[in-house]
Amino acid sequence: MNSRAIPEAAWAVIGGSGTAGCDFPADAGAGASVLDDQMIFDTPDGVSPPFRLFETAAGRRCLTVRLHGWREGVSRGAASRQVFRVLAQAGVRHIFSEAGVGALNHLLDPRDIVIPDDFVDLTTHRDPEPVAGGNLLIMRDPVCPVMSAALVESARQHGRGRVFGRGTCVVTEGPRFESRAEIRMMQPHGDIIGQSMCPEVWLARDIGACYAALYIIVNHAEGVVRDWEHPLLKEIFERDAVNQSRMLLEALDAVDEKSQCSCAGLRKPSLL
Ligand SMILES: [Zn+2]
Repeated sequence: MNSRAIPEAAWAVIGGSGTAGCDFPADAGAGASVLDDQMIFDTPDGVSPPFRLFETAAGRRCLTVRLHGWREGVSRGAASRQVFRVLAQAGVRHIFSEAGVGALNHLLDPRDIVIPDDFVDLTTHRDPEPVAGGNLLIMRDPVCPVMSAALVESARQHGRGRVFGRGTCVVTEGPRFESRAEIRMMQPHGDIIGQSMCPEVWLARDIGACYAALYIIVNHAEGVVRDWEHPLLKEIFERDAVNQSRMLLEALDAVDEKSQCSCAGLRKPSLL
């Protein structure tokens, strides 16, 4: 157990499979410097996963944590609540997230990048309790347009595939992949499929933070176009990690905090 104080930071990057193949943010070569590392905090939902605190080239203080993936004995819902308790306490107002995802849309290919603007939540076992509470969370525009525009710009600079600034992410429970029949059911409802966007997209709104996600296609979903190949998936995770890191850091520093977005107005006091 660790009772150290949670540091102040206005920015956060929730890491997933897209940057797992490198040491984020050091390997990006974007001038970020690590201020503290392996920070574990007690939260009302249990001990958090380890956080890293760094400062970007532009001097922005950012917390980063690997939320995606599974810790033994910790549910995905509990892990999400631990992470967002820490981010809320730190005063985080902007959250970037990244992950590798599958293509539901047959026009997408491996290495294409999608910055989603909507989602369908098909998770069934993740704790639906908010962290801040007392809020009516409106999901009309769940993703911050200002942060997404910054991601699109940086992805176009550094991506190895095409870049799409909109798309719907179908979110499944995992950890297994889906069957062909499940994908046939989901295909009309989204462009990409992943296991990360929920609950983080609405927990971000719950704590009053803007949110945007950078997703790289690592495979076709089952039954879409062709059977995917494990070596290609592995190659993308390993070779694109540094690129993904650079995109995130450049987007983070490019966001104009004075830009007007509608995110804050989509959290109202609960009427119940
Ligand atoms: Zn916003």
